[in-house]
Amino acid sequence: MTRKQKYVILTVLILAATGPALYLLSRSRTFQCFGKIVYRLDTDKKVVALTFDDGPTERTDTILRILDRYHIKATFFLTGKEMLGHPQGVRVILAAGHGIGNHSYSHRRLMLMSPGEIRKEVDVTDSLILATGYKGRIYFRPPYCKKLFYLPYYLSRTNRITATWDVEPETGNMHDADAILQHVKDNVRPGSIILLHAMYWERNATLQALPHIIEWLQTNGYEFVVMN
Ligand SMILES: [Zn+2]
Repeated sequence: MTRKQKYVILTVLILAATGPALYLLSRSRTFQCFGKIVYRLDTDKKVVALTFDDGPTERTDTILRILDRYHIKATFFLTGKEMLGHPQGVRVILAAGHGIGNHSYSHRRLMLMSPGEIRKEVDVTDSLILATGYKGRIYFRPPYCKKLFYLPYYLSRTNRITATWDVEPETGNMHDADAILQHVKDNVRPGSIILLHAMYWERNATLQALPHIIEWLQTNGYEFVVMN
């Protein structure tokens, strides 16, 4: 048995033995075992961070056009693999002045990977982002918000910060633009980090809701900040 197989089996055994508690810990948006996790911006001001996960894809331009129409900036948590597949998408995001975060290389559940694989997922994607000339802080957002011990440990050891969110309007509303908008209206508050997915075709409702979300936030005095 290889070291990697032993590590994965050990992780599964620990998960099985400790059950729901560890499961809840692994998907917590507000707590991790090591290092810093940001799920809200530390401010009383009426600001929000719009964050888009995954991509870039062929839909990047469509999202950017909407943001541009309202003169706002957002943060894009990109995967290394998709950055390689759509280098033009990365360039236009950067050129428009948006923030970029690291959403792993392959978008697999890092929790069940070996330490070496986890380091690679983080480092390769950071290198790809840095190679674009990006100067901002690069937050790390785990795919599916899944993290247990080694990922937070490694991020904290390398002075990286985990970024999650406090408003997830698509959960339970993936195909309902009105419900997505309503969830934002009901839950946003100063400093909120809003999680959105608009990079794939099955996320049409989010794309449809996006202009309305922005308009409602602007009408209610919110400004948009980049996480960097
Ligand atoms: Zn994702």
